[in-house]
Amino acid sequence: MGRTVRWWWWHTAILIFIYSTASASALTFDRYHTQSEISAYLKSLARTAPNFTHHHLGYSRQGRPIEYVVVSLAPSSNKPAIYLNATHHGDEWASTEALLRLLNEITLNFNSPFVQSILSRFTLIFHPIVNPDGHAKHSREDSSGLDLNRDYLIPGRPEETAFQTPETQLIRSLLERYSVRGALAFHAGMEGVLYAWAHTHEKPRDEYLFRLLANETAKAMGVKHVVQSFTDYQTQGEFIDYAYMRFQALALTIEVSQDVTPPPHRLPLITAHAVAGSMAYLLKLAEIDESTTRRYSENQLSLERR
Ligand SMILES: [Zn+2]
Repeated sequence: MGRTVRWWWWHTAILIFIYSTASASALTFDRYHTQSEISAYLKSLARTAPNFTHHHLGYSRQGRPIEYVVVSLAPSSNKPAIYLNATHHGDEWASTEALLRLLNEITLNFNSPFVQSILSRFTLIFHPIVNPDGHAKHSREDSSGLDLNRDYLIPGRPEETAFQTPETQLIRSLLERYSVRGALAFHAGMEGVLYAWAHTHEKPRDEYLFRLLANETAKAMGVKHVVQSFTDYQTQGEFIDYAYMRFQALALTIEVSQDVTPPPHRLPLITAHAVAGSMAYLLKLAEIDESTTRRYSENQLSLERR
């Protein structure tokens, strides 16, 4: 298939995937969910099937629980992980709803070819609220006024100045338990897809792959803004830079809506677009790794035949 035809095929298929299941949703996305509703939902998933495991990661500075869910084909899977998080910035509620909807769609379509092909390569980790204290009071920063998305270790930063908050320390410990291949950090406040680096104008070594993934994601979301994060604006200590530096994870920031907390009636469309973008990212990364594995096997075979 030509590139354009192939793109439209995927785009249409992904939208059908989303809309065909809207009526069967376990959650609805026409309003914001409270932290206790989100917690109950995450725990309920783990009761429905062994493919979903619920984890208690720790507590925020003010003592709110921090939870995540792992989705895999087998409970003890050691496949590479894709880590998805939202609401580093507490007022960006739309980002949490977008991530929850992705989890919801994957749950409802677990046996679909899309989900099965993703899970045949990756374990998925869903962490809907990075900053529960900020989420509770609808403020960008945490309860001590720190921006969590400036608190990570990045190249050149002294280690003792990073990870000042319990929330980012918990993310560091979570990521160290998995072999992280990719990551999506959901944000809100603009529409676009950004890739590492954020702290320098220097190109990442994997720029080609980053652009491939970011363009695919943006097209599926219906947004045009795709840049290296530094070009958007320079920051020091972002999650995507840490994930790329420490784990070589192909980490993107997905900005899902112009408003950090859009009116609830806009959530169905915003979250559907974010799901389409995330699915495109996951499918593209699975396709990239599949072809790498195939080329590697073919090389091994031809070496053995010599
Ligand atoms: Zn943000």
